[in-house]
Amino acid sequence: MSLQIRLSCILQRNRLRDSVCPRQRITEHAELRGHKRKQDEQHSNDSDSDVRFLVLAGAQGDQRINAKKKDDDGVEIEKSNVLLLGPTGSGKSTTLYACLNRINSPDKNILTVEDPVEYQLAGISQMPVNAKIGLTFATGLRSYLRHDPDVIMVGEIRDGETAKIAVESALTGHMVFSTLHTNDAPGAVTRLDEMGVEPFLTASSLVGVLAQRLIRVLCPRCKEEIEITYEELLKSLPDFPHDGKKPTDTIKIHKAKGCIACNNTGYKGRQGVFEFLQVTNEMRELIIKRASAAEIKELAIKQGMHTLRQEGIDKILEGSTSVEEVLRVLV
Ligand SMILES: [Zn+2]
Repeated sequence: MSLQIRLSCILQRNRLRDSVCPRQRITEHAELRGHKRKQDEQHSNDSDSDVRFLVLAGAQGDQRINAKKKDDDGVEIEKSNVLLLGPTGSGKSTTLYACLNRINSPDKNILTVEDPVEYQLAGISQMPVNAKIGLTFATGLRSYLRHDPDVIMVGEIRDGETAKIAVESALTGHMVFSTLHTNDAPGAVTRLDEMGVEPFLTASSLVGVLAQRLIRVLCPRCKEEIEITYEELLKSLPDFPHDGKKPTDTIKIHKAKGCIACNNTGYKGRQGVFEFLQVTNEMRELIIKRASAAEIKELAIKQGMHTLRQEGIDKILEGSTSVEEVLRVLV
């Protein structure tokens, strides 16, 4: 069991004897039964302290207590909201966990609400949602906010209420990571609007949107180099870059063949392709004006965003995937 204490704005983690937690809960008159439901308590026992406790059943079976002193100003961190997009199985949870792992440190209070907890991360408090006891993404988020987290990860924004709290959390100085179901990065901005988040709030809180997909990698043992004319290639991939090329000019690409090593599929392993939309000042103005996803996409590309499709084409040029695979995954 560990106890995190924020002293002079710095969060410190100490390991404690198991007996400390039940003892503290008795002192706090907390409910000893019903461990699965979170218990949120607050009391003031003298003039200079205001102690707030949150006890909940974490994914690792541990209970967590956060305490905050009244005179604690909290840590100033950049207001931010980062969204990850992609269909089920596109690897967005893996990316999300990689982000949390990257910023995880003993001085950061990182809390997650997930459905379900897919990976367990040391040093991070992970709470699975449980509809039976009324613990949803929205209620979990609300109770977390009273405990001064630095970073919050919401497994998925599925409804307007969760979307609004996530945006409010970012605006009040928390770093928020979440996922949303839309096809591409520009679509996330309009999706938040449809969910009832005011565009000026989205514009002030969102720092970036990352869309991702996983595409199969050609088997290095059997992939076959072929020569194809631009004319042929453009029939299936009209957006393939061909500046200054004649239709009859050829290009070398690779295609899948199949061998024992790849179980005759022609592919071995997968790789991520990403589209990152950065919310710049100019982009903020567009969001506030309720611009369409197409307008947002146009500006993002002008500002250097590489689309999923362009990333896929780069992988074809590198020889790591085939035209067929890009067409299958990146419509
Ligand atoms: Zn092979």
